[in-house]
Amino acid sequence: METARQNLARFLAALPKTETHLHIEGALPWELLKAASGDRFPCPPASWAEDFRFSDFAHFETELLEMAFAYFTSPERYHEAASAVFRKLRDDENVRYVETSFASGMIEFGKLDARAVAQAIRGAAPEDMEVRVFMGIHHNGYNDATRDFIEASLEWPELAGIDLHGTESFPLEPWTADLWARARAAGKFTKAHAGEFCGPDFVARVIDELGVNRIQHGVRAAEDTALLDRMARDGIACDVCPLSNVKLGVVPTMADHPLPRMLRAGVVCTVSTDDPISFGNRLSGEYLALAQVHGLGPAELAEVAANGFRVALLPEPCRRAFIDEIARLAKEHAA
Ligand SMILES: [Zn+2]
Repeated sequence: METARQNLARFLAALPKTETHLHIEGALPWELLKAASGDRFPCPPASWAEDFRFSDFAHFETELLEMAFAYFTSPERYHEAASAVFRKLRDDENVRYVETSFASGMIEFGKLDARAVAQAIRGAAPEDMEVRVFMGIHHNGYNDATRDFIEASLEWPELAGIDLHGTESFPLEPWTADLWARARAAGKFTKAHAGEFCGPDFVARVIDELGVNRIQHGVRAAEDTALLDRMARDGIACDVCPLSNVKLGVVPTMADHPLPRMLRAGVVCTVSTDDPISFGNRLSGEYLALAQVHGLGPAELAEVAANGFRVALLPEPCRRAFIDEIARLAKEHAA
């Protein structure tokens, strides 16, 4: 006799899903890092433990960069990692669409060829998975060492767009709004991290000043119901990573996570894993946590999965087919 938990796991496994907030450096499979770095990383990071909490963003970033710098030394390494990441997501999590970013800071410090890195990631997409590659730029990431490749990237067909990364501890510099507007004029998609550590005011500023309609995280927008109403009305979507938020102390526990409240307010929210090498999380685990801790039922979980395709940069018939498939699975499950 199948238990309710097994029944839910089977339903979740059948749902086509997306990852729309995934840093490729943070998605590096630990096995690849271990194999490539001698005995430097013999065990999975301590941060995989369920009760582990990072002391702050700097703690998290330092540990992640140590692993990333040890591995991502060439475009070939990006290709190898991306191939493994995409294959695992497709085979283990039924992910059919991925938006992933690489960090301009990695290009800067490793003196890598940024376009070759974008091509290496894009070229790693399996035939039956759609992948869109973004370049992530920190608040202080546009400088003499990065300006040329960032500007050139707006013309690269293999790059889908740009994403504001980082700690939210810097004020928005004058270059930021200008670059984001020019990226859109060049046909690129733009998004931004906000509302992870800074509050709703910063989320509103990013929407107003950068002109984005996709926020990475955005969870602190939930502190302002007027802002949530505005985001629902204007179709500003949030790519939320609940387990990341717990381990980074954005919320004290999963039970405190505002995602269900954001969904009820009508904000289009997706669910992704952010940096699984640091958090030890899996996409199915994110959905299960929403079911077990917040009581989201199959119909609501199906809506979250469908939201991933609603925000996806896909041709309309392809988007429709995925959303219809999810609706059919939810209906069959309810029958
Ligand atoms: Zn992120």
